[in-house]
Parts: sequence; C-alpha cells; structure tokens
Amino acid sequence: MEVDLVLRNVSVARHPGLVDIAIRDGLIAEIGNRISCEAVEEEDLEGAFAFPGFAESHIHLDKACIMERCSICAGTLEEAVRETAKAKAGFSEDDVYMRASMLVEKAIMHGTNRMRTFVEIDPRAGLRSFEAIKRVRDNYAFAIDIQICAFAQEGLTQEPETEAMLDEALHSGADLIGGCPYTDVDSAEHVRRIFALARKHDVDIDFHLDFNLDPAKTDLPAVIEATCANGYAGRVTIGHVTNLSMLDPDTLAVVGRKIADAGIALTVLPATDLFLMGRQSNFSIPRGIAPANALSALGVRTAIATNNVLNPFTPFGDASLARMANLYANVMQLSRDEDIALVFDMVSAQASEIMGLRHDLAVGGPADIVALDAADPCEVVRASAPALAGWKRGLKTFSRPRPQLLKAKTTPSLSAISG
Ligand SMILES: [Zn+2]
Repeated sequence: MEVDLVLRNVSVARHPGLVDIAIRDGLIAEIGNRISCEAVEEEDLEGAFAFPGFAESHIHLDKACIMERCSICAGTLEEAVRETAKAKAGFSEDDVYMRASMLVEKAIMHGTNRMRTFVEIDPRAGLRSFEAIKRVRDNYAFAIDIQICAFAQEGLTQEPETEAMLDEALHSGADLIGGCPYTDVDSAEHVRRIFALARKHDVDIDFHLDFNLDPAKTDLPAVIEATCANGYAGRVTIGHVTNLSMLDPDTLAVVGRKIADAGIALTVLPATDLFLMGRQSNFSIPRGIAPANALSALGVRTAIATNNVLNPFTPFGDASLARMANLYANVMQLSRDEDIALVFDMVSAQASEIMGLRHDLAVGGPADIVALDAADPCEVVRASAPALAGWKRGLKTFSRPRPQLLKAKTTPSLSAISG
C-alpha cells in the first residue's frame, strides 16, 4: 500500500494498545497495528493520544483581547456588557481581524479545529466585526472550520436597526443566529423575533440565556415553547443558564428533562460564569456553573466552551479547551473516570455534534487529527495535557514538540557541594 503519511504509535479510542494511522489523499486509509506501507512521510508520535480535534462551540473572537480598553471595577455582568459596548464602538475591521487572528492561532495550536464564534452585529459595531471574522474564517480554513453566529448581544426590540443588520448578515455569509433575551427590554418578543429570522434563513439558533442565579428569573420556558412550536428540536443551543446551578436535584431533573425533550443543547462557559456570577455575595460565594454532567445524564446534549478571552466578561484565557475542561472538572468536584471522560466529550465529540459537524477517526473519513501529550482522554482532562501536532485533511497544520529537560551531564558530588 502506498500512502502520503503514516502516524506511528498513537493511542486512539476503541483500539487497544498503540496503533498507526495511514493517510492518503486527505483521508484515513487504515488504522491498525504496525501498518506496513510505502509512505512519503512518517512520524512517530511515541504514544500520544490521537483524536479528531477539540471543538470550540462558543467563543467571541470579535471582542477578545481588549483588557487595556476597559475598566473592571464591580466584575458584574452589567459592567461587562456596558464596558464592552463602549469599546465596541471603536472597533475597526482591521483591529478585529488582528485580535481574532491571534486568538484563532492560539486555538489551533491548542488542538482546536472546529469553532463557533459569535459576532456582534448592531448599530455600534455595524458589520465591521462581521466582515473581519469572515476574513479570519477564510484565512484559517486550512486548519480550522469556523461557524459564524450573527449575534444580538445588545437586544433587539429597543434597537430595531439590529434586526435588519442581522438579516443582511444571514444573507451574506453568517451560518446561524444568536439571541440574548437578558439584554432586551422585551425578552419574549426577542425570542420570537430570533426564531422568525432563523426560520426565514433556515439556520440554527444559539441563545445566551438565564445568566443569573435566580431560578424565577428565566426565559427558558419561552425558548422551550418556541423550539417546539417552530419544529426546531436539535437546532437550538443555550449558553450559560447559570440559574440551573441553584436548583435542587429534584427540580433540576424536571427542568433537565424538559430541555432534553425539546431537543435543546446546553453550552457551559466555566471561566466567565465563575468570574461574573455570585457578585452579590462576599462569602459562601456560589459557583454559578450549570451542572452539565447531571444534565447530560438527563439526556441533554452538553458542551463546555471558552466564551470570552481577556475582556470584561473574562479577564483570563488562552483558548485552550484542555485547560477549560480541567477547570470545569475541578470546580464541579468530579473524580470518577466516567465523569471525566464525559467532560472530554463535551469539548470534542458532543461540542461537534452541537455544531452539526462530524467527529470521528474512521477509515475512509477525513484525516483531521490532533495528537495530545497524554495516554487517553481522562489524562487530557486531569493533566490539562498540551497538544503536540495537528493535521487537517492529512496536511500538518501545527507542531508543538514536547519540551525537553536538559539534564546536567555530570552530577556534582555531595562533597563538592558541601565543600
Ligand atoms: Zn458568549
């Protein structure tokens, strides 16, 4: 057999021991033990864990890396929205392009090859951020598939121009629509209009929802009802929903089953939720993270994602999903292998499914492969394992060799040290 590339000695899901992966014409030609073949190129990955790559299902490229333009005093959601809205008015297309490109490059080098980014479209940002992110999507298509979600961060009903701008974005290259009922003066009408736009363009929906810690303050019933009424099961995702963290197990079971039955997926954004929630308390501070593992057990499709990087919503970040999975698992006090393995799925297979993208390493399938410096998914999450290399359609997109410890050639004797 002649192939373009063979990756030797990797561990992959559902194959015992170390295997090789042979690649021809951008597709996986064979997965097996000690494949014998004529390969143009060979690489020994020395036991790295190979998988189809991390999937970032919720990130804001357009407003990333703006710390020096904003002040953070209260650390609340209201302040983050206000400060970012001010900064946004000054965004130019090139400015957004530069910041977004930097972050996408980081994500790629952390092993992410699928991404859904929100892009704010409103009278402040105009279509400038959207145009910039379209350029980013095209420029980095060699390494990552980017979906663009045209997003109404500042609400809709109080700024009627936004609706026409979202409509235009959906005509000119946006992949889906994002709503934010909590910033709208009329959240029910906001939900209704987002669904109307989605149906007009036949696109999926991703809502920022219930970003508070009061279970009584909720737009979830309206979203569930609209999802069912519009026949949108499997096409709606909700992000944050931090008030689910305040429900007792019996109530969570009832609400979780309603979300699952409606076919609505949930993305948890641990870094932002931890930073912005619970600001009303100065002791016994609630974590404010929706319990994704418990909701998954109730049948909800769940993902963990980065959300914001270095802005008033999250003054931290590096677009590493291994690190984000580790943060979530630690904060949620998980320890069992099955729980940790599910967390890995939430930044890979399940996040891909939310984006409607394929995610498997299979003979005949695309050679989209990322190698991580770990033996298996649990070690990736527990140790926040770094990425080593990635390939898209069989072409190498990044390399990040293992660090090397340079040991002293001779060890000084004890007598030499003590003199
Ligand atoms: Zn978000």
